Amino acid sequence: MKLKDLDSFSRDFSSSPKFPILFMGHGSPMNALEENEFVQGWKYLGKSLPKPKAILCISAHWETRGTFITAMENPPTIHDFGGFPQSLFEVQYPAFGSPELAHEIKKHISIADIGLDLHWGLDHGAWSVIRHLYPMADIPILEFSLDYTLDPQGHYQLAKELSFLRDRGVLILASGNMVHNLARIQWNMPDQGYDWAEWANLKMKEWIISGDFSSLIQYNKAGREIQMAIPSPEHFLPLIYLLGMKDAEEPMEFINEKVVWGSISMTSLKIG
Ligand code: ZN
Repeated sequence: MKLKDLDSFSRDFSSSPKFPILFMGHGSPMNALEENEFVQGWKYLGKSLPKPKAILCISAHWETRGTFITAMENPPTIHDFGGFPQSLFEVQYPAFGSPELAHEIKKHISIADIGLDLHWGLDHGAWSVIRHLYPMADIPILEFSLDYTLDPQGHYQLAKELSFLRDRGVLILASGNMVHNLARIQWNMPDQGYDWAEWANLKMKEWIISGDFSSLIQYNKAGREIQMAIPSPEHFLPLIYLLGMKDAEEPMEFINEKVVWGSISMTSLKIG
């Protein structure tokens, strides 16, 4: 996106209503190529949105010391996995970036010194989902990293400062999985979860609906089921960003509320 486009970006959207925000349970990278029930759910959510001016993706698959945002004109498609078919490695998602918007975000955030990154790109947390929403790759995309030195409260506060983008026609898409325990994956349970995983998936939904965000922010004080569901924070934290950007009384819609392979929940959420 060139500077003159950014001018129209501000002009066109200064009085827009708040843009909806998404949490996408991304699951297997193979969802990038498949046409399954989860992909259908993502497409359904995508069709319910106006066309954004840009997308900011907060991906479980980009963890850094400090917070970074991609700031290159052409973010490369990153194939950050192994052991999958060659066809998955051949997927390209050639969306533009937007250095101007990256600078704008850096300028706006006061509680962290956001680094401008020229080396990352779009990892599969971003492109495996977004290619189903916008197959033409005609919307600029930026990725926002997860600072592994921040606690969940810190991410929640950062999300509040990022929410100004909702007034600028930018789609914020957080990509992770609410229940994500790779060590416990059970290949003979493709369509169901362990009891603890099903319980945790429902409990987190209950906390979201009731507005009990503090239980989610303090997930490490919750019981065994939640600890099993979140053995490491990176797939869970994108959800915290969504909660931090939610206004009171905004509508919420859950889709893909299913636990697969024993220990991965595909639950996705639209707010707004
Ligand atoms: Zn993942």
